Amino acid sequence: MAKETLSINETRDMMLAVADKIIESEPILSEADRALGDGDHGVGMERGMNAVKEALEGEDFACVGKVFMGVGMAMMSSMGGASGAVFGMLFRGGGKAIKGSETLGAAEVASFFKAGTDEVMTKGGAKAGDKTMVDALLPCAEGAAAAQGNVSEALAGAAAGAEAGKEASKAMIATMGRAKTLGEKSIGLPDAGAVSVSIIAATMRDFAA
Ligand code: ADP
Ligand code: MG
Repeated sequence: MAKETLSINETRDMMLAVADKIIESEPILSEADRALGDGDHGVGMERGMNAVKEALEGEDFACVGKVFMGVGMAMMSSMGGASGAVFGMLFRGGGKAIKGSETLGAAEVASFFKAGTDEVMTKGGAKAGDKTMVDALLPCAEGAAAAQGNVSEALAGAAAGAEAGKEASKAMIATMGRAKTLGEKSIGLPDAGAVSVSIIAATMRDFAA
């Protein structure tokens, strides 16, 4: 059943479902980074999501923004590597934008992805087409904003955008991060961070469906 909004506890449980899904996806994420980077993305994400579980399980949060900020803090402090910093920016920046809200509705989903993506791009320096997770985040934020309606529709829009962006990253030549040295050899495979973003958004969609 489609939902109008998610409560604070439902938002926390959604992020716990994301953590389990990412941990389960470790082999896929490791493989994606092995092809274009140094192969540590899956293990880093697994470590980050175990820290997320520790930070979120059984905790009560004052607002939905603080749930996402807690995810960002846990990832930033546990993962190391480029993606720990970048996911920290996404979840902390996005969470801060919806601080104070006691429900997660379509407007909060759109604000979260927009502000989080802005933070990643401003602080991390990657732009569209560099073949990073930004190429999944930009269409994800656009998909959330275009969908509006209820939280289920907004998350469905976000997930569709992230999936399309991950697929589009296959055709891109890496100009940021470790894959940069591969040049045209990076064509044909998706960016590992974009694969993570697509799994995160799809799990959020499924939780609220
Ligand atoms: P590392 O590159 O330190 O080994 P990971 O393997 O965990 O870190 O993560 C690699 C992913 O991080 C890339 O696939 C890319 O999506 C993302 N990434 C790296 N640098 C940036 C950046 N400046 N902005 C956005 N995403 C980035
Ligand atoms: Mg790596």
